[in-house]
Amino acid sequence: MIIFLDEDKAYRYWVTHHRRGFVLCGRNRYQPHVLTLHRATCPEIKTANARAHLTSGSQWKACAPQPEELIAWASGWKQDPAICQECRPLDAAAAEPAEIHLSKLGREILEYVLEAAVIHFDDDSLPYRLCAADIADCFGNTVGHLSPAFRRLFEQGMLTTTGSTKHLTPGKKIFPTVLALQGLPELSGNSEAELQDQLLKLRR
Ligand SMILES: [Zn+2]
Repeated sequence: MIIFLDEDKAYRYWVTHHRRGFVLCGRNRYQPHVLTLHRATCPEIKTANARAHLTSGSQWKACAPQPEELIAWASGWKQDPAICQECRPLDAAAAEPAEIHLSKLGREILEYVLEAAVIHFDDDSLPYRLCAADIADCFGNTVGHLSPAFRRLFEQGMLTTTGSTKHLTPGKKIFPTVLALQGLPELSGNSEAELQDQLLKLRR
């Protein structure tokens, strides 16, 4: 177990490199009575804002690869940490699925599709039209050249298209999957059913 005090940088490094780890979040250094247990990937404890107090001010964090270690440590303070309802750290079913390894090109294509989709979630007044040719254009490439990358993303369950994924033609629309959307921190509060609903809207 590691305790981070006034070490935001080191803490950020730890959570990004231990995605399967656990974090005990403390809000008061002198009376550690407000403890919450999270997963290292929980959106509640990550923040894009570099100036946010993560381990400074009155905040501190204790990190470990297993939650039991943190709970045992908290019990030494006679504390039962609160369990975050967002990331459900003790619920095995909420664990992250096995990590999917994307190539650099695969990741860039996926990010492009996700971005286009999320814009339509916020504003569905425009029909979603993103097709394979649009993506190829954006990457200064042809659909033929990108098709191995697309095929891999289909196989990994990150993207899908209309009809068969076997024969990708330039005009085929490309959609993200629920699995791909679940990787977006801004959508992590949505249930699987809600994400499915949003995806159905894109297909209209
Ligand atoms: Zn959490």
